[in-house]
Amino acid sequence: MAAMTAFSLSEDQIAIRDMAASFSAETLAPHAVRWDEEKHFPVEEMRQAAALGMGGIYITEDVGGSGLGRLDAALIFEALAMGCPTVAAYISIHNMCAWMIDRYGADEQRKAWLPKLCSMEHLASYCLTEPGAGSDAAALKTKAVRDGDHYVLDGQKQFISGAGVSDIYVVMVRTGEAGPSGISTLVVENGTPGLSFGANEKKMGWNAQPTRAVIFENCRVPVANRLGPEGIGFKIAMAGLDGGRLNIGACSLGGAQAAFDKALAYAQERKAFGARIADFQALQFKLADMATELEMARTFLWRAASALDETAPDATKLCAMAKRVATDTGFEVANQALQIHGGYGYLADYGIEKIVRDLRVHQILEGTNEVMRMIVARGLVGRAKGN
Ligand SMILES: Cc1cc2nc3c(=O)[nH]c(=O)nc-3n(C[C@H](O)[C@H](O)[C@H](O)COP(=O)(O)OP(=O)(O)OC[C@H]3O[C@@H](n4cnc5c(N)ncnc54)[C@H](O)[C@@H]3O)c2cc1C
Repeated sequence: MAAMTAFSLSEDQIAIRDMAASFSAETLAPHAVRWDEEKHFPVEEMRQAAALGMGGIYITEDVGGSGLGRLDAALIFEALAMGCPTVAAYISIHNMCAWMIDRYGADEQRKAWLPKLCSMEHLASYCLTEPGAGSDAAALKTKAVRDGDHYVLDGQKQFISGAGVSDIYVVMVRTGEAGPSGISTLVVENGTPGLSFGANEKKMGWNAQPTRAVIFENCRVPVANRLGPEGIGFKIAMAGLDGGRLNIGACSLGGAQAAFDKALAYAQERKAFGARIADFQALQFKLADMATELEMARTFLWRAASALDETAPDATKLCAMAKRVATDTGFEVANQALQIHGGYGYLADYGIEKIVRDLRVHQILEGTNEVMRMIVARGLVGRAKGN
C-alpha cells in the first residue's frame, strides 16, 4: 500500500475501510449482543471475513494473504470492532499468529500452514502467558526437551484466546537457559497427543470467543514445527505483539466509536427538563471531548502503524504508546457513552454495556498498560532493576 501522506488515507485505504465497515455492519453488528449472551464463537462469519481478505491481512500473497500493511490493518480492525470488538479482536490474534509463521517460518512451513489460516479454514491461537508468567513473560516455564526429531512439551499456558477451537497453536516454550534467550517458538497442531484444554473461563466480556488454559503433558511436537532457530522465540513473540497491540488499539477505537455514535443519537432523542439532553451544554462538552479524544488516539495509532510499516527504529515504542492511549481512550469514551444513556445504558439490549465490558480487557492483554509504560520508560531512563 502507498504510505500515508499528511494524515490522509489513500483511495485504496478508504475502499478497504469501507469494505470492512459494510461487512461489520451487515454480518457482525446485528448479532453481537446475542453472541455475547450465548457465548457463541462465530466461526462461519469469521470465514466470511477471511473470504474478503481479512484472515491474512499482512500475509504475503503467495500463500493466500492480502499483502497489505499495518495501517490498512488498523483501518480494518477499527471497522470490524464497530460491529463487535470481541470478534474483531480474535481475528486480530489470528492475523498475528499467521504473521509470525509468515515472517519467521521456512518456506515449507509457510506453505503448510498459511493457506488454510488465510482462509480461516484453520484458526490460530497465540500461547505466551502462563499461570506464573504474565507481564514477566520471559519467565515462562513450559519445557520443550529435545528427543530425536521431536520436542517433548510439558507445562501450561493460561488465558489463551480461541483455545480448544483453534487448529494451530503458536507456542513459546523453554528450550534453553532461564530468561528470554532460552525461549523458542513451536507450532502445535490441535489433535497432537498430550495437548488438552481447560474449561472455557467465565469472564466480564469477550464472551463471543473462548478463553482456556492450554495444557501440554508429554506432548511430542516435531522439531520441524519450530519457527526459526532455537532461542529466538521471545523475539518472535514480541515482534508479533508490536502489530497485535496496534490491532487491539484499533479494536478499542472501533468499539468506542460505535458507543459514541449510539450516545450522540440517543442524546438527540432523549428529553429531560423540557429539552433534549443534547441541548445541555455540559453534555455537549462531554460529547466534544469524547470526539476529540477518539480522534487524537486514532491519529496517533495511524502514526505508530505507519512507523511499523516502515520498520522505523522507534516502532516498538510507538506501538506501545499507541496501545496504551487507544485502549485507555476507547474504554473511557465507551464508559461515558454508557453514562449518557443513563439507566438504559446499563441494560443489555442497548448494546453499550457489552462494549464497555469488551473494551476493559484491552487495557490488560497483549501487555498491560503498565507494561506499555515500562516499554516506553526503558527508552527514556533505561531498564529498571527487575524489569
Ligand atoms: C480475556 C483474556 C484473553 C487473553 N488472551 C491471551 C492469549 O490469547 N494469549 C496469551 O498469551 N495471553 C493472553 N492473555 C493474557 C494476558 O496477556 C495477561 O493477562 C497479561 O499479560 C497480564 O498478565 P497477568 O494476568 O499474569 O498479570 P500480572 O503480570 O500478574 O500483573 C498484575 C498487575 O501487576 C502489574 N504489573 C506487573 N509487573 C509490573 C511492573 N513491573 N510494573 C508495574 N506494574 C506491573 C500489571 O500491569 C497488572 O496490573 C489474555 C488475558 C485475558 C484476560
